[in-house]
Amino acid sequence: MNGGRRDSSALERRLSNITVQTLRNYCDVKGISGSSGLKKKDLVEFIARKADRSALEDFLSSCEADYLIDSFRRAVKWGKNDLIVRLDPRSGMRELHAEFNGLDVGLRRVYYVDFYETDNPKKIVTVCECDDSRKRGLFCPHQMTVLIRGLKEGKIKLNKWQGPMTPEVRQGISAHLPRIR
Ligand SMILES: [Zn+2]
Repeated sequence: MNGGRRDSSALERRLSNITVQTLRNYCDVKGISGSSGLKKKDLVEFIARKADRSALEDFLSSCEADYLIDSFRRAVKWGKNDLIVRLDPRSGMRELHAEFNGLDVGLRRVYYVDFYETDNPKKIVTVCECDDSRKRGLFCPHQMTVLIRGLKEGKIKLNKWQGPMTPEVRQGISAHLPRIR
């Protein structure tokens, strides 16, 4: 093994985004024994150590793709509503700021969402204040809503977007916003 510590901590971070139940199921399906009774943190370390790296990589990618498609489905609804998502009118191609008003969708709070250098594929950085983004490093549904809204308003170009994306989501966005390229 020459994975190195940094490599395995990135892996553990991705694993810790997955529910304990799903992680246990993965062990069952893959015939990895010894996971029962482990608490989440230990379970994550255990899988990172025991599981076949390339199969695990496929599994993580598919979980992350599921999360994105789920975000997209919610974002399509939210993105239409001016009360839920509002782009800061001063936003441009380099920086886009938005307010996501969760009061309308039962979240009971407002999130501030920021995208930086949206015209520069190498420098796209996105953040939201919610836990999924801040603590788990995920491209949350709030950010997806802002992405869709930004595309709709011509603040972001889909063909330049190199932020989180999957072929399914890209297709969904193209179908949803047919004039966006
Ligand atoms: Zn968020």
